[in-house]
Amino acid sequence: MKLKTAFIVILVLAAVLIIYFAFGAIFRPDFDIIIKNGTIVDGSGQKPYPADIGILKGKIKEIGALAGKKAAKIIDATGLMVCPGFIDIHTHAGRNLLKHPDAHNYILQGVTTVLGGNCGGSCFPIGSFLEEVEKKKIALNFCTLVGHNTIRKKVMGNADRDPETKELEEMKKLTAQAMKDGAVGISTGLKYIPGAFAKTAEVIELAKVVQQYGGFYATHMREEGIDVLKSLQEAIAVGKAAKIPVQISHHKITGIDNWGSSVQTLALVEEARKAGINVLLDQYPYPATGTGLTVLFPPWSLEGEKKKWIERWKNAELRPRLIAEIKYNIEHDRGGNDLNRIMISRYSPEPELEGLTIEQILEKKNLPVTLEQGVELIIRLQTKEIEEDGQSGAIYFCLSDEDIERIMKYPHTAHASDGAIRTFGLGNPHPRNYGTFPRVLRLYVREKGILTFPEAIRKMTSLPAQRLGFKDRGSLKEGYYADIAIVDAAKVADVATWQEPHRYPVGIPYVLVNGRLVVENSKITGIFPGLVLRGKGNAFDF
Ligand SMILES: [Zn+2]
Repeated sequence: MKLKTAFIVILVLAAVLIIYFAFGAIFRPDFDIIIKNGTIVDGSGQKPYPADIGILKGKIKEIGALAGKKAAKIIDATGLMVCPGFIDIHTHAGRNLLKHPDAHNYILQGVTTVLGGNCGGSCFPIGSFLEEVEKKKIALNFCTLVGHNTIRKKVMGNADRDPETKELEEMKKLTAQAMKDGAVGISTGLKYIPGAFAKTAEVIELAKVVQQYGGFYATHMREEGIDVLKSLQEAIAVGKAAKIPVQISHHKITGIDNWGSSVQTLALVEEARKAGINVLLDQYPYPATGTGLTVLFPPWSLEGEKKKWIERWKNAELRPRLIAEIKYNIEHDRGGNDLNRIMISRYSPEPELEGLTIEQILEKKNLPVTLEQGVELIIRLQTKEIEEDGQSGAIYFCLSDEDIERIMKYPHTAHASDGAIRTFGLGNPHPRNYGTFPRVLRLYVREKGILTFPEAIRKMTSLPAQRLGFKDRGSLKEGYYADIAIVDAAKVADVATWQEPHRYPVGIPYVLVNGRLVVENSKITGIFPGLVLRGKGNAFDF
């Protein structure tokens, strides 16, 4: 009797299991998400084509006709362009990402991966920082360079001299550690302190270390106006000597006197590429730069601790030289020879100055509008910022449309923002923080016709992916991660302006990171599927 009962129980259980699995197979979805009826712009620059995309477990499982297939969620992309998520190869995402892990100003632009640590400055040590990011959980994918300025400052402070042998060895050790920890390369900011004090040979030594770990060399060059050609030659020389790929950061020509020089810079890049040096450029699509006020100051005046800078600026013997050099910089380079071309973007000691130009501030303060007074004002503003341990930034309208368009059309230029993860509403930052990618698609694709839509998408996706060494991101291909931006090509537009920069773009209704929707119906969903992407050096066992 007992045996018979047990037999019946087993039989019933088996029947239940069979029914469960049979029905499960019928009802179980084929995919987590299907994007149907969209036009695929795959990131290669090739002609778009109609197809559906099936996403399973974070990856693109199938591209084709998926009518009749089931998914937990269906996105109807009728009339929309389905593109790889944008990869921003030039950002200053760092600790600001921990503060705003939703990366709101990036994901709403369709950006799914950002590279931080540019222009010579990075978080450090890289290993513990990346772990912190992982623990925090973020909305998009993050990778980083290690900054040369960061390393030099750790070892030598703000000293204006060559490193001693021991110091150079220490810098090489820190660079190697950063690469093993997962940095994807090294960045220099040779216009900034203390990078400006480093000679080419020092950079080459560190680039050689990075090369051993499969990284690349990104550079904010020493000069981008006067002497831009010499600076580009220096960057190429580093690539040649260290046998390392070179990324020319935010390529531009500053200063009215220098406009048109992009003809020569692009010719130089082309020549270097023909000689086998792997040079790429990136660029933000705006006629103004955005950085600190100190960019106007000569490097010699910025040595040592900030207190020392102020003493030096006040020193009656040095003062005439300081004023003359800042004046020269305004006339011939970053200042665009017009005090109305310099706008304060952030000034914590007097936030009411944010959004005003140097000329407008002189008028507001009832001071004569002369170049000399402008220079005096800039020194005063910077001094006060340091004394109050505040923050400041400026926007310089010193680029020409012709250079911008010429550089943009060059096939080896990627689109990138040079922005950071912003606190919504704080200061008057450069609109590139909110508008870079939609602006390219509106102004340079739709309105000016400088690039075709697929070509612009290529420069936002597979081109930067190639530089970063990604094998499974930056294109829409089966097996790749489902980082996807769905774009309305007829409506996509940047909305952020110089006066009102904290405005989100329009026309990018869906964004997926690792197969999950971070933007749905143009709204942030509030989930954090982003991953930390470590460089090749992390896999090495040296
Ligand atoms: Zn820079």
